[in-house]
Amino acid sequence: MQIPEGGGPRGAAEEAPLFSRTALHGRTAVVTGGSRGIGAATAVALASAGARVAILYRANTAAAETTLSRVRGAGSVESLAVRADVTSELEIETAFRTTAERLGDVDILVNSAGIHRGGRVTRIRPSDFRAVVETNLVGAFLCSRPAIASMRHAGWGRIVNIGSVVGLRGFPGDAAYASSKAGLLGLTRALAVELATAGITVNLIAPGFVDTDMTAGLSAESLRAIKGSIPADRQASAMEVAELVVAVTCAPYMTGATVPLDGGYLIR
Ligand code: NAP
Repeated sequence: MQIPEGGGPRGAAEEAPLFSRTALHGRTAVVTGGSRGIGAATAVALASAGARVAILYRANTAAAETTLSRVRGAGSVESLAVRADVTSELEIETAFRTTAERLGDVDILVNSAGIHRGGRVTRIRPSDFRAVVETNLVGAFLCSRPAIASMRHAGWGRIVNIGSVVGLRGFPGDAAYASSKAGLLGLTRALAVELATAGITVNLIAPGFVDTDMTAGLSAESLRAIKGSIPADRQASAMEVAELVVAVTCAPYMTGATVPLDGGYLIR
């Protein structure tokens, strides 16, 4: 199945399953934070749906290469990994230029690069607060700009931001992370409205607690307490988030939405 051009509704001719091997055939995707965790799973899921994928990562070349071989194994043989820090305007511009030269104009951007630094407002270092906001929020802004330029050119685009339930409700000791993710929600809505008539959708997925390196350092006690607050009584896998990313890219009339994926955490 080919996703219809523009932002219009799916027509009768597009009734094939959304997740077929060809759902995103011919599309080029950039996934930030694609070396590990949710970004890595998303890169593989997009490749499985037929997209060419550029994996952007900060430093972990070994992890990026492992993900790249999974992406190629999923059928996207031209895909590539590019080292680029999302907080650097210059590195991001260069990475998007490289992607366009190698894979064509960018149709899909998934902003998954992220860091977490905890600490109550009176305890967290201002430099840590800034680093979290710079990576999680300013990084998504910097990556959106070249992506939008290329999507406008094609008249079709999808931006999926990886937020967090932490951006939707208060958590003690999570001011920096919560601020960055609440800001990402604001960016998502502002962009969705700006781009709604250009065939470009912008949505936010808000995962709860996902099994990745980001949560791997938690003590057994914290893990038990967090799981106890989730009605589903388990973490999500990175691939569960990735599959939702693909679903969102296949939904032309969905824009400006916040989609929790949290095992029921927010409704408890
Ligand atoms: P992860 O396993 O720690 O992976 C983080 C990824 O971000 C890595 O690929 C890392 O690259 C990249 N990255 C970090 N800083 C970067 C920078 N300055 N420039 C470029 N890339 C950078 O994290 P994750 O759990 O997959 O998290 C992915 C996203 O989901 C984040 O935005 C996170 O806030 C969000 N999220 C996670 C959870 C959870 O429970 N895990 C829940 C809700 C939301 P390197 O490999 O090169 O370091």
